[in-house]
Amino acid sequence: MSNERTLSIIKPNATKDNNIGNIIARFEKEGLRIAAAKLTKLSKEKAEGFYIEHKERPFFNSLVNFMTSDLVVLMVLEGENAITRNREIMGATNPAEAAEGTLRKLYASGIEENAVHGSDSASSAEREISYFFEKNEIYDRF
Ligand code: GDP
Repeated sequence: MSNERTLSIIKPNATKDNNIGNIIARFEKEGLRIAAAKLTKLSKEKAEGFYIEHKERPFFNSLVNFMTSDLVVLMVLEGENAITRNREIMGATNPAEAAEGTLRKLYASGIEENAVHGSDSASSAEREISYFFEKNEIYDRF
């Protein structure tokens, strides 16, 4: 077991549906702590840079349009095995395949509008956290 930090995003469909509080409550209930948070609207450039690894995928432009369509909540979550725990709490990318009770099962409206993002590895978490947060914006919650 190790204490980790991971990047979480509450995506535009979930902020539009007023599910910010429900999603944050779930993270806290599961023992993850919010070490940084921002409510913001992503620019096209920022969203493109974030999803750069998907640049060649057919859904890239649609994904960028979706991610810039409304407000997002950017968060650093901290806790025991936070990267894996967050992915478990989120569920599968496609809500049709997500387990009962996962955030995507509860709050996604499709494979693209799937409510939440979570870093998928330690190296992604490091890149993604520093992409959105300065060091002095992240608080120690261990
Ligand atoms: P994640 O790590 O579970 O978020 O999944 P990926 O890294 O594979 O994909 C990034 C994001 O792209 C997903 O969370 C979805 O919002 C979107 N996405 C993934 N696959 C598809 C797809 O087949 N079609 C569309 N339209 N969007 C997708």
